[in-house]
Amino acid sequence: MTTTLITGANKGLGYETARRLIAEGHTVYVGSRDADRGRGAAERLGDGARAVQIDVTDDASVAAAVSTIEAGGGLDVLVNNAGVEARGPDNGVAGAAEVTADLMREVFETNVFGTVRVTHAFLPLLRRSASPVVVNVSSGLASLTHVADPGHPAAAYPGVAYPASKAAVNMVTVQYAKAFPDMRINAVEPGFTKTDLNGNTGTQTVEEGAEIIVRMARLDPDGPSGGYFDVTGPLPW
Ligand code: NAP
Repeated sequence: MTTTLITGANKGLGYETARRLIAEGHTVYVGSRDADRGRGAAERLGDGARAVQIDVTDDASVAAAVSTIEAGGGLDVLVNNAGVEARGPDNGVAGAAEVTADLMREVFETNVFGTVRVTHAFLPLLRRSASPVVVNVSSGLASLTHVADPGHPAAAYPGVAYPASKAAVNMVTVQYAKAFPDMRINAVEPGFTKTDLNGNTGTQTVEEGAEIIVRMARLDPDGPSGGYFDVTGPLPW
């Protein structure tokens, strides 16, 4: 039996990933920072779903989630999915003229420090798994190659904090993967997906967006590690 934790699984890509992995036979801890939203999501997902409160910015919340999941029998797959976008003063994307250190810190707190906080806390459980897997939900906007290429659509995105946070997630992924060769640890780009993160302006469905997250969560021990993938294959850093 495979046991999986997905952070930020009460809605959006995390919820859809939970639905798919449960259908594949995983027991999924549906992580939610709000306990009620998590319980509601787990009820909707049905058998195979267990709600767990986890705010990735809060040490005590993460430690409590580790205790719950350890008592439940351990963890095989961690999907670091919880994420936030950076909003400027007019609720638009904060570009170079608007971004502040405080905004940057707020976005990094969830997207980067949250990923590290959760991964670090669950390492002892993952190390006990016969087939440990970590999926870090990054973004296509993390690709320095694409964002710096004026001919690429990613270059048109003006925000600073969000792409920088996801580029940091990519680096964290590479360093973890080298340090833990017995684990499969990869970063993924779901593609521009209709969720609350972008005010539901995304062009893909959550079913399409979750595809690469699900695929990398189901890797065998001989699968790739330390990579950055979208649904079509490896992406340039
Ligand atoms: P979403 O629908 O807004 O879902 C984000 C999830 O993260 C929600 O469950 C949210 O919880 C949770 N979250 C936020 N801060 C948290 C915290 N401190 N602790 C725990 N959970 C927290 O957005 P989404 O599009 O599904 O995003 C999922 C991931 O995909 C993110 O990492 C995002 O950056 C990435 N991504 C999305 C797209 C896209 O086009 N949608 C593209 C590339 C990458 P609440 O409900 O409590 O707010």
